[in-house]
Amino acid sequence: MATNIREIQLKYNTQQKCLNFLAELRWGKTVTCPNCEKNKVRVIDNLKKRYFCKSCKEQFSVFTNTIFEGTLLELPTWFQIITLILNAKSGMSAKEIQRNLGVTYKTAYYTAMRIRVGMLQENTCLNGIIEMDESYFGGKYRKTNENKPDLATVEYKRGRGTNKISVVGMAQRKGKVVTKVIEKLSKRNLLNMLKTYAKQENSILVTDGFKSYHELEKYIERLEINHSKGFSKGIVHVNTVENFWSGVKNGIRGSSKSISKKYLPLYLLEFEWTFNHRFYKGNEFEEYLKNALSQEKSLEYWKAESTNQVKNIVYNQ
Ligand SMILES: [Zn+2]
Repeated sequence: MATNIREIQLKYNTQQKCLNFLAELRWGKTVTCPNCEKNKVRVIDNLKKRYFCKSCKEQFSVFTNTIFEGTLLELPTWFQIITLILNAKSGMSAKEIQRNLGVTYKTAYYTAMRIRVGMLQENTCLNGIIEMDESYFGGKYRKTNENKPDLATVEYKRGRGTNKISVVGMAQRKGKVVTKVIEKLSKRNLLNMLKTYAKQENSILVTDGFKSYHELEKYIERLEINHSKGFSKGIVHVNTVENFWSGVKNGIRGSSKSISKKYLPLYLLEFEWTFNHRFYKGNEFEEYLKNALSQEKSLEYWKAESTNQVKNIVYNQ
């Protein structure tokens, strides 16, 4: 169900209403300490949702260890930015958020980055017919910035010694997709990804004939696409993951002109979320908040210093 921004504005129009809603989603009736997971807790300030843990003697609030931690932005605005991003089916740039809600570019940028972290779907497990295929980002330099490859230029060629970034996607037929930025498409790296996200029993992997995919047969049953003309593909295709890539390509080209290599894994999370909720019938806004609050990630992600730090957070490496 699409999240109606007008409804969100009316329903969550004060900081207090938003705080109450977050506390309810995070804990229900039993407040649990995010530091030690115990629930012997004393209320310090019920309105501000601040608590003291009798077990570990730490103070915490409903924001502790979440994407909201340390924020100076009012929650009603947060909720509106979340809604804009959820409703933008092919990505939403910080510029657009700035234009729509009148916040500064910097606020829009950092809030959107944190919101993407909240889109991380943990414990993804694909089964049945699973397609695996990779895509390449970048490769051409922008005129305005000679040192940064333009990620909106997506090419499908497999090339070594280029500055393209390879991203591997796995999609369950009629199901979810998951992606990973993998610099080196070695058998070992692909196998690691497969083992992380696919159920081995009763699953079939579909790939093309790229050499590194062959080795995966030792782990899972595999079908290979025959590219020769006139050959009916039947179930042997990677259309699901190809559709996903074309959505990502259009989204990056259309809305987010300045995606850096460092943050690519976070942008991909947004496209994955959208794709994985394409048939979702429930309240997506609530579903998103629940997911974001359940992660208890530290703050490092949105001011991450390196590409590896971002990858650690997204891929739990
Ligand atoms: Zn505690």
